[in-house]
Amino acid sequence: MKSGPYDVLFEPVRIGPVTAPNRFYQVPHCTGQGHLRPRADASGRAMKAAGGWGVVCNQETEIHPTSDLTPFPESRLWDEKDIPALRLMTDAVHAHGSLAGIELAHNGNHAANLLSRAPSFAPSDMSIDVLYPKQARAMDKTDIKNLRRWHRDAARRAKEAGFDIIYVYAGHRMTLPQHFLLPDMNDRSDEYGGSLENRVRLIRELIEETKEEVGDRCAVAFRFAVEELMGADGMQGQEEGREVVEMLAELPDLWDVNVSDWSNDSATTRFMPNDGFQIEHINFVKQLTTKPVVGTGRITSPDMMVSLINKGVLDLIGAARPSIADPFLPTKIREGRIEEIRECIGCNICVSSDNHGVPIRCTQNPTMGEEWRRNWHPEQIEPKGEAEAALVVGAGPAGLECAMQLARRGYAVTIADARDAAGGRAKREAELHGLSAWKRVSDNRLYDLKQRGNVNLYLESELSAKDVLDLEIPNVFIATGARWRSDGVGRSSRTAPKRASLMPVFTPDDIMDQTVLPGGPIVIYDDDQIYIGGVIAQHLAAAGHAVHFVTPAAIVSPWTEMTLEQGRIQRALIAAGVTIHTGRRLVEITTDRCRLDCTYGGAGNDVLCGAVVLITERTRKTALYDELKREGTLSHLELIGDAASPGLIADAVFDGHRAARGFEGDTEAQDATYFRRELVSLHDTIGG
Ligand code: ADP
Ligand code: SF4
Repeated sequence: MKSGPYDVLFEPVRIGPVTAPNRFYQVPHCTGQGHLRPRADASGRAMKAAGGWGVVCNQETEIHPTSDLTPFPESRLWDEKDIPALRLMTDAVHAHGSLAGIELAHNGNHAANLLSRAPSFAPSDMSIDVLYPKQARAMDKTDIKNLRRWHRDAARRAKEAGFDIIYVYAGHRMTLPQHFLLPDMNDRSDEYGGSLENRVRLIRELIEETKEEVGDRCAVAFRFAVEELMGADGMQGQEEGREVVEMLAELPDLWDVNVSDWSNDSATTRFMPNDGFQIEHINFVKQLTTKPVVGTGRITSPDMMVSLINKGVLDLIGAARPSIADPFLPTKIREGRIEEIRECIGCNICVSSDNHGVPIRCTQNPTMGEEWRRNWHPEQIEPKGEAEAALVVGAGPAGLECAMQLARRGYAVTIADARDAAGGRAKREAELHGLSAWKRVSDNRLYDLKQRGNVNLYLESELSAKDVLDLEIPNVFIATGARWRSDGVGRSSRTAPKRASLMPVFTPDDIMDQTVLPGGPIVIYDDDQIYIGGVIAQHLAAAGHAVHFVTPAAIVSPWTEMTLEQGRIQRALIAAGVTIHTGRRLVEITTDRCRLDCTYGGAGNDVLCGAVVLITERTRKTALYDELKREGTLSHLELIGDAASPGLIADAVFDGHRAARGFEGDTEAQDATYFRRELVSLHDTIGG
C-alpha cells in the first residue's frame, strides 16, 4: 500500500484488553439527547463511527439517582432497565468496527437531584454548584462505600451494555472523584482528606475496582483535568496535577487528559483562537506513563495531529467539537480530501444546546442531531427530482448551504449576491473582534461550490424581481437575510426611544460596513442580549473608542452563559476599559447624551456621548420575495434563513440545508411528520 503523510493516524492502538482501529478518538461529549432520546443519540454516535472515528464515547452517564442531572438529558445507568437504551449505541458503533466508550459519572454537588429528590453529595458540606436552594452534604464512610458500590455496579452494567472502554471521570469540576481531589472542595480530616495521597484515594479505589469488575474485557480510562487555569487557586499541571499522574501512572489503561472547568476545556475561538490550545497544559503526561494518552483542544489540522503523535505528546487524537463539525473527518484525511474537512469554528452552539437541554446542533454541520429523527447524513443526500435548475438569491450562510446541497443533488445551481464577496453575515461578523474563525462557514461552502461544474456564482449582482424572472429559472430560494433595525425597538421596549436628529446613530451593519464613527464616547445599547453587543463593544474599544455598554439585562450578553462565554466577555469588557451600565433601558437620545431609566424601577442616569450604536432586533429582508410571490409565476419560491426567521448562523445554515433536502419532496408528508419523535413507552413502569 502507498504510504502517505497521515498514515500514522491510521495505526491501531492497544488500550488495555481492547484495540482501537486507529488514532481518532471521539472523547465523551454531551448531545442533549441522552436517556430521553436514545435512538437519536445512538445514531449520532454511529455516524461518527461511520466517518472513521476509531473510538466513539457517549457522555457523562449518571450512575445513581443521587447523581441526577435533570432537566439535562445526559446518559443514565441507574439500573438494569437502562441497559437496552445504551446497547443501541454500542451495537451501532460496533457495526462500523469502532470501539464504544462510556463516561460513568457521579456528579456530587453538580447534581441537584431535582427528579430523584435525593440528597446531593460532596466531600465536605457546601452549596451545590447549580443555582438551586440546596446544599450538598459531606459524605460519611457509608456514603463513600455506597458510591464505590454504585460505580462498580454501573461498570458491570456498562460491560453488559457492550461498552469497550469504561471511564472513571474526574473533570470539569463536575464529578465527585475530582471534588475529592481539590483542596478547595475537600476539607476532610479522615483518610480521604488532607494529603494528596488521601485526596486521590477515592480515584485510586474507583479505578482499581472498575478494573477488577470489568478489566478482563473492557479498558478502564481515567479522564482527568490536569490543570484548572486558576493559578495557585486550583489544580496546576506542573504541581499536583503532575503528582497525580505520577501516582497513578500505570493504573488506568488510558489517560484522557484535559483542562477544567468546562468553559476552559471547551473554550471558544473568540477567547482561545489557537486550535490545539490545550496541548501546552497536557504535554507532560505521556512522559510519566507507558499507557496511551488522549488529549483534545480543537485539533482539526491533520498536520498538527501527525506532529502530536510523532513528537510523543499524544497516542490518540481526541475530539469532541471537530467530530461534531465533521463526523467524516478521519475518512477525509484517509482519502486525502483535506480541503473538504468542515472545520469547527469554535462557536459553542453545540454546547448551548446541551445547556438548553435540547438536541445538539452545530453551526458547521446542520445534520448533527438530525441523523435519526430526520434521517440526515452529513455526506449523503437524495439525488435531484424532475426539475433541472434552481436559483438561490443571497450567498450568506443559508444561501451557500442551500446552493451547495442543491448542487450535490445534481441541480444546475445559480447563486447571486449583491455584495462583492460571498459569505453574508458569516463573513461580515468574522471581521469583528475575535470572530475570525467564523469565516470557515463560508470558506468551506465556497470551496465546495467552486469544485462543482453545475454551479454559477455571481457577485455584485443585486437582483430585482424582474431580474429573477428574466433568468427564467422556475425554482427560486430567497436567502436575502436581515438588517439590524435602527429605531431602538427591541426585547425590552416595543416603542422607539425619543431621538434628536443631531446625534449620529449606527447599527451593527454600519460597524460591519466599517463606517467611520465620530470621536467622543460611544454608547452601545444592547437590547439584543445575545453575543453581538459584547463583540461590538470589544471591537470598538480595540479600535480606540471610549465605550459605554448599556443593557437592560443584569449582566453583559446574558445568553452567552449558554456558550460558556459570559464571564469571559464581561471580564474582557472591563479589561478593555468599557464602562458597563447594566439594568438600564434607553428612553431618549438627545443631542449630546443617552437618557437611561432603571429596568427595575429605580433612578436612571445620563451618559454623555458622541454617537450611539443600537443593537436590538433585525428586520427581515423580504421585499424581493414578496414581489415574486405577488407575481405568482414561479414553480417553487421559498424564503429561507434569516429572511425567514432571524436567528443564529447555525439556524440559517440549518434552514438552507432543510430547504435543499425538501425541494421536490412531498411537502404534505414533510409537514405531517416534521420529524420522528421518541415517545415515552407506556409498556413498562420504571421501578415496577
Ligand atoms: P442568512 O444568514 O440568511 O444567510 P445573510 O444576511 O448572511 O443571511 O446573507 C444574505 C445575503 O443576501 C447577503 O450577502 C446580501 O448581500 C444578499 N442579498 C440580499 N438581497 C439581495 C438581492 N436582492 N440580490 C442578491 N443578493 C442579495
Ligand atoms: Fe464547532 Fe460551533 Fe459546531 Fe460546536 S457548533 S462543533 S463549536 S462549529
